[in-house]
Amino acid sequence: MHESCGIFGIYAPGVDVARVTFFALYALQHRGQESAGIATTEGAKIYIHTDMGLVSQVFTEDDLLRLTGNAAIGHNRYSTTGSSTACNAQPIIAGTTEVRLALGHNGNITNSKSLRVELEEKGFAFNSSTDSEVIANLILSSPEKDLEAKIKYAIRRLTGAYSLVILSGEKVFGVRDPMGVRPLCIGTLDGGWVIASETCALDHIGAQYVREVEPGEIVTIDANGVRSTYIETNRRALCIFEYIYFARPDSVLNGKLIYSARQKMGTILSREYPVNADIVMGIPDSATAAGLGYARASGIPYHEGLLKNRYVGRTFIEPDQRLRELGVRLKFNPLTQEISGKRLIVVDDSIVRGTTTPRVINMLRKAGAREVHMRICAPPIRHPCFFGVDMATRWELIAAHKTVAEIKDFIGADSLGYISMDGLIESVGLPADMFCRACFTGEYPTPVQLEMDKLQLETLPPDTARSLSEIET
Ligand code: SF4
Repeated sequence: MHESCGIFGIYAPGVDVARVTFFALYALQHRGQESAGIATTEGAKIYIHTDMGLVSQVFTEDDLLRLTGNAAIGHNRYSTTGSSTACNAQPIIAGTTEVRLALGHNGNITNSKSLRVELEEKGFAFNSSTDSEVIANLILSSPEKDLEAKIKYAIRRLTGAYSLVILSGEKVFGVRDPMGVRPLCIGTLDGGWVIASETCALDHIGAQYVREVEPGEIVTIDANGVRSTYIETNRRALCIFEYIYFARPDSVLNGKLIYSARQKMGTILSREYPVNADIVMGIPDSATAAGLGYARASGIPYHEGLLKNRYVGRTFIEPDQRLRELGVRLKFNPLTQEISGKRLIVVDDSIVRGTTTPRVINMLRKAGAREVHMRICAPPIRHPCFFGVDMATRWELIAAHKTVAEIKDFIGADSLGYISMDGLIESVGLPADMFCRACFTGEYPTPVQLEMDKLQLETLPPDTARSLSEIET
């Protein structure tokens, strides 16, 4: 399972905007690790540098020096639509004779196929296979005159999840879809303004957090300051996985520190699934806080049992199955002396396909663990995500076709406990109706387009294809 992207925007005359964007992207690296890019502008001209790889690999000092201007946007990508190639790296540049813009996108557009066909019929050319280019061309296709109105036009036609940063003519725009599926926040820096996927990016560059960009809000930043316009919205649907896994623990989302929410998940798991054991451990890094929460609530000591090779990257983020499998072996090393002969409670963020967890348990048993009790911070994932999280097709999701007892046997655990939906909501401490929880419940916050259903059908084995009706909304 992986999230799609990290985005950042800055308008700050007199500031080295490219370098600030570079450091902000560094802080957002966890959101996308395939490619990175920065675009800057000096008004009429847009400078851009994008490439495959981590932020530290993509930019040299010379690249940053060439990216001049008073405004910039940046992007870390993991492919959700479009293949993992350099031409799909972002920001993308698009333009007509009147308007030229750079755009970075986090999320997934569920009606992008039909929009693309419509735009191609109107004569718009596409250089990539991303839905981000569909957004850019849709904006450009608008009959409206000014860019803000063009963006509004596009928002009214797009469905799905999208937080955007757009750069054009010494203006930076931040856009959040009307449901607010992906996060976006705004802050100040040295008299200028910044927009970022997460608050941790603001902290690292020394910016002051001001507020979240509201669902359906278009923020415009230029020499006149900041102003906002809004698209009407009737349903909030922030991805609850931001709290479980995607966001960095030091980020604050809706006033809630991610670290604290994860600790509470552990606390609630200890209440819902107590068990006698010698030590508690969290799978690093995403479940460390939850492991500590479980340990504190249960009174069972917390120990580190696995050491993470931090520079391998997230297992799920690798783009194909072969690399994913290799990633599991490369990622962790067990601390044998801590584990040997012990009964372990192992807290993890989620089980998606069920391919990683058995290997981790096997690794712990080989290191001498006497018992392994898995506790999971997410309820069973039974439905695919259509909003930018490429977790798996439905038939690949282990909980879509196995009971919890069967999963316990399959992964080789002595016991298995998934947090309840009520427990998850309690841990976040916000009303349930402001979240998307579709991958657990199958209740999508917006109709998913027929083509998405077809895509699912194509990837389902014949005997499960009948379950198409379950993903229709
Ligand atoms: S379906 Fe799941 S992963 Fe996708 S946006 Fe909703 S909560 Fe997040």
